[in-house]
Amino acid sequence: MPQASLHTIGCRLNQAETAVLADQLRTRGYDLVEFGQPADLVVLNTCSVTDTAEADCRHLIRKIRRTSPDAFLAVTGCYAQTGAEALRKLKDIDLIVGAQHKMQLPQYLTALKRRPAPELLHTRTIGRDAFTMEGIGEYQETRANLKVQDGCNFMCSFCIIPFSRGHERSRSMDDILREAEGLVSRGHREVVLTGVNVGRYEFKGRTLADVVRSLEPVGGLDRIRISSIEPTTITDELLELMAGPSKLCPYLHVPLQSGDDNVLKAMNRRYRSREYVQFIEKTVAKIPDLCLGTDLMVGFPGESNEAFAKTRALGADLPFAYFHVFPYSSRAGTAAPKLPGAVSAKTIKTRARELCELSRAKRLHFYHRFVGSAVSVLFEARNTQGLFTGLTGNYIRVGVTSDEDLSNQIRIVRVHGVMDGLALGTAVSGASALRESLTE
Ligand code: SF4
Repeated sequence: MPQASLHTIGCRLNQAETAVLADQLRTRGYDLVEFGQPADLVVLNTCSVTDTAEADCRHLIRKIRRTSPDAFLAVTGCYAQTGAEALRKLKDIDLIVGAQHKMQLPQYLTALKRRPAPELLHTRTIGRDAFTMEGIGEYQETRANLKVQDGCNFMCSFCIIPFSRGHERSRSMDDILREAEGLVSRGHREVVLTGVNVGRYEFKGRTLADVVRSLEPVGGLDRIRISSIEPTTITDELLELMAGPSKLCPYLHVPLQSGDDNVLKAMNRRYRSREYVQFIEKTVAKIPDLCLGTDLMVGFPGESNEAFAKTRALGADLPFAYFHVFPYSSRAGTAAPKLPGAVSAKTIKTRARELCELSRAKRLHFYHRFVGSAVSVLFEARNTQGLFTGLTGNYIRVGVTSDEDLSNQIRIVRVHGVMDGLALGTAVSGASALRESLTE
């Protein structure tokens, strides 16, 4: 039995795809081993979101070749699409698979014989048709990602993703349901709907809200979560579902990027700060316990001190539970590098640090709101301090002391305290205690 290992660099969508490729390989008779262990085949799913991500990919490729000199190395993912020519010069690789053929990669592994130069399976354009995927994602984690969409038509001026992943396209509803049922049969109780621009899901007139509705009746599936979603794509229908009795978690990660309208315009974002604020106010009024996260970018060309101050102020004022902070990174082929007003690396670093500190305070504040409450936690694993931790539907990480193995169990927990990044609680045991806790 040939042995294979897989590794992902990058986003949740890449992880979802690697998990499905792993399943496809196992079905084809490969024995999957941990990345870093000796293997006949290594599949690397790459990222090209920043220069650093690409450098990390090249570094890892060289490392894989040093530690596994005889392994067949197949490289796919966003960097394989946008940087195929650069990768081709690396003799360490045997096969480069661009975005068009990514999910069929195992079909091209006819013989695991090292090649004198990388073979290239690459098309400049990427198909726009709806798609299906063979297999069911293999995850060690409690939560499973579920790819529903790919590509983006929005063309934000800083973003390379439309070039690496192509135009928007959606997965057939039947195929989503098939994989979701497969994931549940493997024990997963929560799925995270994932795509590049997930709110743009559209298949034969059906929307993301329809996908959620189609997953609701799946027995054994307790939670449906939506990954990062563009603010202009979130419909009232989706918010109604989230607000109502539903398996859809009260969780939204809605990228803001900047609080300054000139910067938003230069970024080619499809909203201005006022519209964003109105959307958040409407959403939080509908879903009071919502966990709201966002992406903030610092150092975009033209981001003056005043512009940054607006981002900071909006970040502080809106009820975010956390931010992901991204220092702007210039990408060749995008529109932003041609814009005037480059921001120095030192200023970018200072602004990023400031927002990260604010984010930490916001998370603490959000967690504090639930002290004294009973919350439902899907437990994952023990942390290094010996606490069993898991997440609530609204994305609060909760830790409890327990001798019992709580992994993959949903328990009601009374929250009694908060420390940085963790709410501390006590699992409520017994049906009557549970009822009591929930009715309080
Ligand atoms: S919405 Fe903008 S940032 Fe997001 S993937 Fe599309 S182009 Fe990139």
